[in-house]
Amino acid sequence: MRKPLMRIPYTGPLPAPSIIPRNANTIPGAIAALSRFLTAPPPPTLLAPLPNGDPQSTVILSGAGISVASGLADYRGANGTYRQNKTYRPIYYHEFLANHEARKRYWARSFLGWTNLHKARPNPAHYAIKNLGHMGIIRSVVTQNVDSFHSIAHPDIPTLELHGYLRALTCVTCHNDLPREKFQESLARLNPAWAAFLEEAIASGALDTENPDERRAKGMRTNPDGDVDLPGAPYSTFRYPACPHCLEKPPIAGDGTQTRVEVDEEGAWESTSTAGILKPSVVMFGESIASRVKEAAEQAIDGSGKLLVLGTSLATYSAWRLARRARERGMPIGILNLGGVRGEEAFFQNLPIGQQGEASVRVEFGTDIILPGLVDQLRRTGYTHTKNDASDDGQHTNSRVFKDMLS
Ligand SMILES: [Zn+2]
Repeated sequence: MRKPLMRIPYTGPLPAPSIIPRNANTIPGAIAALSRFLTAPPPPTLLAPLPNGDPQSTVILSGAGISVASGLADYRGANGTYRQNKTYRPIYYHEFLANHEARKRYWARSFLGWTNLHKARPNPAHYAIKNLGHMGIIRSVVTQNVDSFHSIAHPDIPTLELHGYLRALTCVTCHNDLPREKFQESLARLNPAWAAFLEEAIASGALDTENPDERRAKGMRTNPDGDVDLPGAPYSTFRYPACPHCLEKPPIAGDGTQTRVEVDEEGAWESTSTAGILKPSVVMFGESIASRVKEAAEQAIDGSGKLLVLGTSLATYSAWRLARRARERGMPIGILNLGGVRGEEAFFQNLPIGQQGEASVRVEFGTDIILPGLVDQLRRTGYTHTKNDASDDGQHTNSRVFKDMLS
């Protein structure tokens, strides 16, 4: 019996990285090393990939760092500590489930944060991945991000969202999904004073992602996952709707009893209810990752020959163990991240002397700078990907991978 895999933030200190190879400490040096990394033949010691896998291909494991250039908050700064707001602690799943007041607070903050999140768009790093996919270099993406930028920027590269997504909500009772946009409209309707405040905040530029200082000066702080902190706000007045499916037909609970879903005259969930609570479709902290998602992520690793880690300190165990799995398969590992990465020295042991990126790369620049440069470099050198199976076109491979990952 394996332990369930939970999403838990890791807040320990992280060591400063050693750049590999040494001359990858400049932008051209980093691009050259990554180009060699992605195009080198797989090492002879690599364990054979899954039957439909491709040992020449690379799987990406991405995190919050890749979305920073889109204006979203990162969990960590270069020194590996929570940087946006030192006192910020994300809500845990058990608190969310157990406590009506905690949910009010969560949804009030999320109501204020959604507008910016919804407005934010993928950045050049995501579009560079799209190009690397078309070149046959990237086979799949596993992301810890909940912003949906990967699937927006490169819908034809199979992408697994390890920690779910904010674009929808899921009912904890009936497990039906609800689009976030619709939910946001309900929140505005149920909380007219908050909606007016949000409109004012947007008009004043206090929520402008371009302007964090001004935002702080106006008493608001933004955190990852679309959370906005408003010190002293009357969270207890906030109202949120019940799951429309459960409200229409309250389901029978697991123990055979009839559940109750009660709302006030305008449709706000009431604490006398025993069902119909909506949660964001993200894996909240302290919540287990579905085994189907966990296995699909393992298959994504096992189907490729190399792992490229982008914009993450691998702080969550669910992501870190995928890198460890890649290492155990003998996959060369490349890391592009500002700041230290959990346990990274173990990924770079026993490298061949004089290797220039073929076996490993560790660079420290923004993904939005390096990845587009990498695409240009590969185009200039006329790189073409050779697959083992000549009858495969990219489209077929992608749809097959997608099916495998979600089956
Ligand atoms: Zn429901």
